[in-house]
Amino acid sequence: MNLSLRFLGVGGAQSPELGSACGVLERDGRPSLMIDCGAEALSAYLARYGEPPRAVYVTHTHMDHVGGLERLFYRLYFDESWRGRVRLYAHAALVPLLQARIADYPEVLAEGGANFWDAFALVPLSRGFWHDGMWFDVFATRHHAPNSSFGLSLGGSFVWTGDTRPVPEMLSRYAAHGEMVAHDCSLVGNPSHTGVDDLEREYPQELRTRLVLYHYASLADAEHMRRCGYRVAHREENAVLASPLRVVEPVGAV
Ligand SMILES: [Zn+2]
Repeated sequence: MNLSLRFLGVGGAQSPELGSACGVLERDGRPSLMIDCGAEALSAYLARYGEPPRAVYVTHTHMDHVGGLERLFYRLYFDESWRGRVRLYAHAALVPLLQARIADYPEVLAEGGANFWDAFALVPLSRGFWHDGMWFDVFATRHHAPNSSFGLSLGGSFVWTGDTRPVPEMLSRYAAHGEMVAHDCSLVGNPSHTGVDDLEREYPQELRTRLVLYHYASLADAEHMRRCGYRVAHREENAVLASPLRVVEPVGAV
């Protein structure tokens, strides 16, 4: 199995020219799991892969992470080969927020007859989930209200923090096996996001060498963070990953 993580978008909410923050796990060169689906991320995904995502993991429900889902509904619903088949993984605590922010529009079709969730296979989760024969751990991060944002870890392979302040207590557990850690980071931190000045205080040196920073405000900021000694993701960069720890062959596979 050859895995890689493509940074489809690396910008913060005020930097759409860098793309909505989004990663795509690729397996043997094909997309396996899209992480977050902002409006710009969906456009970038369709441009690169030529078809909608077959699986999406949602870290939290800020619009630069879920704003593409309404458009995705219309793309999926009217095509029977896609309707109801795209898996949407979300922590159970996010389901009421997804409902309120994305799915609760009165009459998703003007003529009636459809529910928003008819287009998707929603998979609420708590500790983690199986996808494509791989186990993904999910962990709470620090971004706005407690229990409203969740990072993702494919043990032995990669971690995607989503938007967050530093989370050393989580990464000591969920990035304990040499994973590459894609981490929210801007030049200057704030109560919602990590700053490059936070990293040295919060994380041990060994972990800092495994960070790949994204969710920054500008290319100039990215250059500055590189001069501070950090690896910073380019938009569209495809990072090669190590093999995950827990893999099973799907039932019925030959
Ligand atoms: Zn956010």
